[in-house]
Amino acid sequence: MSSAANAPSETPEYAQIDDQASNQNKKSTNGMKNTSHNAAASSSASATANSKNSHFSNITFEELRQLNDKFIKERNWDQFHSPRNVLLAMVGEVGELAEIFQWKGEVSEGLPELSPEEREHVGQEVSDILIYLIDFASRCKIDLPAAAMKKMEANARKYPADKVYGKANKYTDYQ
Ligand SMILES: [Mg+2]
Repeated sequence: MSSAANAPSETPEYAQIDDQASNQNKKSTNGMKNTSHNAAASSSASATANSKNSHFSNITFEELRQLNDKFIKERNWDQFHSPRNVLLAMVGEVGELAEIFQWKGEVSEGLPELSPEEREHVGQEVSDILIYLIDFASRCKIDLPAAAMKKMEANARKYPADKVYGKANKYTDYQ
């Protein structure tokens, strides 16, 4: 991750989130609050999952947000990235992802039925979706990783493992 000697980049005002979860998040990532250059460097350094139990590399949502923010500002595209526009762009990318699977029938985990080029394409489209999702959440002032963690906690309460084990019913069936 980045060196503490590097000045942290300025967080855009729209991305400043004041809730407690966000402050918690900032505390935990202070050492990684980096310039986009450093984020890019760390991205390439940890571009693959780094242990047997990891499916993903250690790149953070905040690093991706900073890189994307720089990409947008350098092109003067901020003016186009209203929350609504970003949301619609993201939905378009979901369509592009769905198009790869259209008419193929069921596919297995790991996508062995797809060609290497198609699997690469899947990675590109899920990335487009993620980048727009991060941009959307940021512009809505939603601390995405904290909100996702909170939602998973709510899901765990809504679907107690001992009640729903092996069942796919909706939560209202268990109340
Ligand atoms: Mg795309």
